[in-house]
Amino acid sequence: MGRRKQTRGNCVFCGREMAKSGLSKHLQSCEALQAAQTEANKQRGRNQSIYHLQILDAYSGDFWLHLEMRGNATLEDLDAYLRAIWLECCGHLSAFHIGPNRYTQIFNDGWSVGDEKPMNVQVQRLFVPDMAIPYEYDFGTTSELTIKVLNVRDGKPHTKHPIFLMARNRMPDIPCMECGEQATLICLDCLYETDGPSELCDAHWETHQHDCENYGGPMPLVNSPRTGLCGYVGPAEPPY
Ligand SMILES: [Zn+2]
Ligand SMILES: [Zn+2]
Ligand SMILES: [Zn+2]
Ligand SMILES: [Zn+2]
Repeated sequence: MGRRKQTRGNCVFCGREMAKSGLSKHLQSCEALQAAQTEANKQRGRNQSIYHLQILDAYSGDFWLHLEMRGNATLEDLDAYLRAIWLECCGHLSAFHIGPNRYTQIFNDGWSVGDEKPMNVQVQRLFVPDMAIPYEYDFGTTSELTIKVLNVRDGKPHTKHPIFLMARNRMPDIPCMECGEQATLICLDCLYETDGPSELCDAHWETHQHDCENYGGPMPLVNSPRTGLCGYVGPAEPPY
């Protein structure tokens, strides 16, 4: 597809909208973010390591998240968050690949062989800045993500939750194959039975020749890299 426009998103602290790479830079210097951190750091209690993560879909990079994650939260917390905002369709297995180890739901119980480990491990025992961690959801129709550890700070988190959403991409431009306006759904008859395009807006779905009866209807386009895979229909909303 050549050089494509980067998807855009907003900084949750100051509200500014920027393209993907601009926003990554911005979060290192946003004054509103720094003020929020200073405020958070006034809370009582011990400081802890807090990680700035960027999550990218490994396929296009159009879908991305900036998360802040506390060090005493676990890979299980991150897995649950990614499932809620992007991935969950029918309870598939998932895995993080860190060094020689694979952190997953089915792990070495003394009977199976391999380097499988459970996900209930605190990320401060694993994460180091500049790490890029491959993650997979569903080992059949796989969604592959990359988790980049951009930074770590010593302080207090912004919320009581394990993870705080700092930014996410807005819905990428996906043109309707008839009119070029933003598409809202995929015709599965077109997708599976022809080699042509399959994206449609609501208006053109109304007059489209297919009904997707064999597939239980058309598939909605949602702001997630899992759109179009398995039975994913969203809602692609953060869990908290
Ligand atoms: Zn900002
Ligand atoms: Zn599924
Ligand atoms: Zn249209
Ligand atoms: Zn069709």
